[in-house]
Amino acid sequence: MQARSPVALYVHVPFCLSLCPYCDFVVYTGRDAHGPASMVDAFVRALLVELDLRADALDERFGAARAALTSVYLGGGTPSLLPAAVIRGLLERVDRRFGIAPGAEVTMESNPGAGDRGDLAGFRAAGVNRLSLGVQSLDPSELKRLGRRHGPDDVADAMAAARAAGFEDVSLDLLYDIPGQTVGSWEATIEGAIGLVPDHISAYALTLDDPEAESLTGPTGDHLPLRSGARAWRGRARREQDEDMAAELYALAMARLAAAGYVGYELSNWARPGRECRHNLAYWQREPYEAVGPGAHASDGALERRWNAARLEGYLAALLARDGSQAELPPGGRETLDGATARAEGVILGLRMTSGVDEALISDPLLAPGLAWGLQARLLECGSARIRLSESGRLLSNEIFLRLLPDAAPGTSSPVATEAAA
Ligand code: SF4
Repeated sequence: MQARSPVALYVHVPFCLSLCPYCDFVVYTGRDAHGPASMVDAFVRALLVELDLRADALDERFGAARAALTSVYLGGGTPSLLPAAVIRGLLERVDRRFGIAPGAEVTMESNPGAGDRGDLAGFRAAGVNRLSLGVQSLDPSELKRLGRRHGPDDVADAMAAARAAGFEDVSLDLLYDIPGQTVGSWEATIEGAIGLVPDHISAYALTLDDPEAESLTGPTGDHLPLRSGARAWRGRARREQDEDMAAELYALAMARLAAAGYVGYELSNWARPGRECRHNLAYWQREPYEAVGPGAHASDGALERRWNAARLEGYLAALLARDGSQAELPPGGRETLDGATARAEGVILGLRMTSGVDEALISDPLLAPGLAWGLQARLLECGSARIRLSESGRLLSNEIFLRLLPDAAPGTSSPVATEAAA
């Protein structure tokens, strides 16, 4: 396969006002994020250096005239904590070094609370054209349990502020399988979210893994160790989660969102036609994407993946040259997939999308047993030369995905294959 230059860029901004105990992202809070000892200014300087170094490497490989980006995604953390002037400077640097294509999607994650929503009009003027609001729930007690700083009213305020600032593309991100959540409270959250008329809705199951147990927190790991309070919170929360209830909540979301005119284009994502998230589509369609910031992951769209280590101290030390030393790329890791795993992952990502995969894949000896099993179990269906998840397959997607991976033995699985959102 011929190497292609990235079509999308992910920028990780690792600061939040406070830490939500379920959060699985690289986040710094407290003195690291605010006040005179904050690392924010140093981070912004380092980020610009990393952008230059990554662009230099791409220039060397593909030439400076490579294709411009069709998507830039400012995620975190809470990137909306940065001043609009910083976001403007950042996007100008991205445009100068990578090129941002006319009409590209430029997304920023933000939170609904007045304290971390940020300067929405300033962000819009700086070139951000899509807002992804971390709503999670519209139930006050669930928001409190999740450690969120906002209340339901803030969500309506943020939505109004986003529209007033000129955002025509706004996503609301929701969570289900929250401890204590009921069918009634989830239904109220879904209906409340629909009532705010967003362009896009994500609904992810709350996942509560321990990154340390998965060996993701070492010097080149892409996760920070959990704080002890968060570990205890997760232990308690996990005991309250219920797979059957999660399946029921997911089915309810599918039904309600479809009835309201949102098209479920991916397992956890619904949009009004034309408002699908192009950045995430690049991931799911295995397009090459670049990434900067601590913990950020990049892929060449084929076999190569790399990531930056999570720790901000190492990130700053590498990129902010001192005593005449030269800036270098931050620590991290990389892996090369074998062809079989890459093929299986491509099909799994394809099946996550409503568009599915080419039915000709049924003749691939690696994939045929898993696909045939899914068709026979009616978790997959075939039509118009495509294989897709059936409605029951959307609830039991992990059962199929496990059978598609090389050497993977089918085992128990959770009802819905999703991951927590910020
Ligand atoms: S869940 Fe979102 S707001 Fe909460 S700490 Fe993580 S990134 Fe920050």
